[in-house]
Amino acid sequence: MAFETRLKSDQPGQLDIEYSINGEHHQIFFKSDSIDFCWDASTQLCGTLLPSLIKTGHAHLASDIDPSLQDNVEKLCAIYGQWLDKEMTLTRAGSAESQKVEPLPAERGTGCFFTGGVDSFYTYLKNAKEITHIIYVHGFDVKLDQTEVRQQVSENLAAIANAFDVKLIEIETNFREIWDLTGPWGELTHGPALATIAHLLKRHISKVIIPASYTYNDLFMWGSHPITDPLWGDSQLSFVHDGCEARRTEKVAAIANSDIALKHLRVCYMTNTTEFNCGRCQKCQRTMINLLAAGALERCTTFPGAKLNFRKLKYITGTELNTRTFLKDNIIALSERKDPLSLKVRNALERSFNRPVLLRKAIRMVQMR
Ligand SMILES: [Zn+2]
Repeated sequence: MAFETRLKSDQPGQLDIEYSINGEHHQIFFKSDSIDFCWDASTQLCGTLLPSLIKTGHAHLASDIDPSLQDNVEKLCAIYGQWLDKEMTLTRAGSAESQKVEPLPAERGTGCFFTGGVDSFYTYLKNAKEITHIIYVHGFDVKLDQTEVRQQVSENLAAIANAFDVKLIEIETNFREIWDLTGPWGELTHGPALATIAHLLKRHISKVIIPASYTYNDLFMWGSHPITDPLWGDSQLSFVHDGCEARRTEKVAAIANSDIALKHLRVCYMTNTTEFNCGRCQKCQRTMINLLAAGALERCTTFPGAKLNFRKLKYITGTELNTRTFLKDNIIALSERKDPLSLKVRNALERSFNRPVLLRKAIRMVQMR
């Protein structure tokens, strides 16, 4: 067997698992101050299916796996097989009659993965009536050794949970080690990683909502995806991939109506800084433009002192679809605004958008040197 897991210890607030991959052993932990974990057959399957398919091209369904998840696994194998251009095979150990399902509390809530970014706030505000828990995983987007940033993130999330009157679940884990051995985090593995976390929380939630990164018009192989996310559910936990209907400009316009969002928005992905939002990276600059287009840049307090970099804006040269979409959406959104800064930004974006493709490629080559 190329891939196995073994439960080493299960205590309140801490779970220790040994992952064995091709004879190499990895000690994985999950910790939380506020909850206990559920390490059942569905949790194990979410945490091993994709690594097994990638390492061996094969998955084996144990007899104790929930029948609805067994049916979904066939579809997941077909999707991953197409995405990775690899034949995937599946075997089953027995009938659904032999499944063991842990009895769970009748009253459970709805969780929402929440990092404090645009997608999180959009999905939370849209589904606020039903969301009871927001979930953040330390060790996924922010590394475990970034202690200063993690402290800022924790304090920010606690303030958001308090303002929205929901429970905050923070989990600390080195689980990403397994996924980084499996494949690229963004394009492939963060979806099943989130699914595993959601199943760990099954004693507290019966539904989990995952905020979308992309619209229905911009879909491609991506870790968390509207066709794969719902398939990680079983009879005790359902999954919803939320927010594909809205473009980035529309999401920012929606969250601009929330003072709580504008006070706590965190989008920066820079890992070598201790700043909350650096204000300089592409993600920060793009979000500042979205906020400007929504008429909310001055009201958003989490980019202190940050300035738009016009030299860079004039030379956005990406030829990829999402950069063109970004430029076009923001040019349209900014056309509604007549203030001098909005006009200046719109002119800069139009110069980038209208530049002939060969010239864009030439500038790109110079930039990459
Ligand atoms: Zn940044």
